[in-house]
Amino acid sequence: MTRIADAVSCLDGYDPNALHVEKAREAIRGCLPPLTEAETVRTREALGRVLAQDIVPSINVPAHDNSAMDGYAVRFSDLREGEATTLTEVGAALAGRPFQGTLGAGQCVRIMTGAVMPAGADTVVIQEVARAEGTRITVPPGQKAKQNVRYAGEDLRVGVPVLATGKRLRPADIGLIASLGIGEVRVRRRLRVAFFSTGDELASIGAALKEGEVYDSNRYTLHGMLERLGVEIFDLGVVRDDPSLLEAAFTDAAAKADVVITTGGVSVGEADFVKNLMAKLGEVLFWKIAMRPGRPMAFGRIGSAWLFGLPGNPVAVMVTFYQFVRGALLHLSGETGDLELPLLEVKCSEALRKVPGRTEYQRGILFRDGGEWKVRTTGQQGSGVLRSMSEANCFIVLEHERARVQAGEPVQVQLFEGLA
Ligand code: AMP
Ligand code: MG
Repeated sequence: MTRIADAVSCLDGYDPNALHVEKAREAIRGCLPPLTEAETVRTREALGRVLAQDIVPSINVPAHDNSAMDGYAVRFSDLREGEATTLTEVGAALAGRPFQGTLGAGQCVRIMTGAVMPAGADTVVIQEVARAEGTRITVPPGQKAKQNVRYAGEDLRVGVPVLATGKRLRPADIGLIASLGIGEVRVRRRLRVAFFSTGDELASIGAALKEGEVYDSNRYTLHGMLERLGVEIFDLGVVRDDPSLLEAAFTDAAAKADVVITTGGVSVGEADFVKNLMAKLGEVLFWKIAMRPGRPMAFGRIGSAWLFGLPGNPVAVMVTFYQFVRGALLHLSGETGDLELPLLEVKCSEALRKVPGRTEYQRGILFRDGGEWKVRTTGQQGSGVLRSMSEANCFIVLEHERARVQAGEPVQVQLFEGLA
């Protein structure tokens, strides 16, 4: 295996002590080989999983030409130009119950949405414009040939691939696979992710808080973020800043998982043995990233697992997770395509302080001002203020080179929620 240090040191402008956010992303992504193992799951269970096969239709969808509307199936050549035509209704075609005969000259068939087009018919006249007197159906002039017909294969066509290996399946994809009658699909196995919190000051939920302690919230936010990514989770609890306990935790985590995430213990003021230990157990790089919040971060390998040593501050944990770990986990899971969160531009309703030389992720609230979407901050932006993440619905991403923002200037935002 190549050493991580060798792989990253050849990146242009790589500086571990003032690492540009983009460089850190590039360095991480360059090291990680995606999973190759696959398993078969039932179609419904494949939601959120990454496809390990291409989906190629063996049937057309729809399978037959059918009506897009309720009305009458006719032969367009029977209709007179510029005047009404009266046809004879000879039967009905319902969804799932096709008309059995063939339409002759001057005939029409009552047809419902989704019903197979009767042989001989090529056009559907909607019921709202037709006049029926018994079986005599009068069609006004002005109809267009082939109107209101859905053609076989217009959604999915035999032999034309629709979903490719590496696609993470959304509800529409599950429906699409079902529309082909496919009951099982090959997907990548779930990525296994273990995590634990480090710190002597951490108390667990349920225990009384002693002086100087804080409840361990990071494991809960991490759990939530991982759950949403659909990975297999191993929560290894809180580990004291004690070398032998930490060593055991790292070894255990690396044996169980593809990826190990820790929080705390990588900052400058932190007891060095956490870092020493990480370095002793594997190949780990310690970065100071030019960003706020979330400056310190460790990345490397312990045993056969990848390690992300995130900072301890609760907001920094979330920001570094979303900006570095999320994309890395998706990539490792075998997902292909653009894995980064999209950036959208909106007007900022207030002035923001910012100095050039680091990327900032301020917590923002996207809101509607009259007809226009704008963004404002949640206020206090300290990296320990987890409430800011809870109140926010987006990050305001202030680029590396950018200086202060004036009220009314456009800024980039990253939404917390998407549709699917
Ligand atoms: P550290 O990176 O370990 O120096 O921690 C930085 C700050 O984050 C300190 O104020 C810690 O108390 C706090 N912190 C660290 N881990 C957690 C955690 N699991 N839950 C809540 N706060 C934490
Ligand atoms: Mg600590």
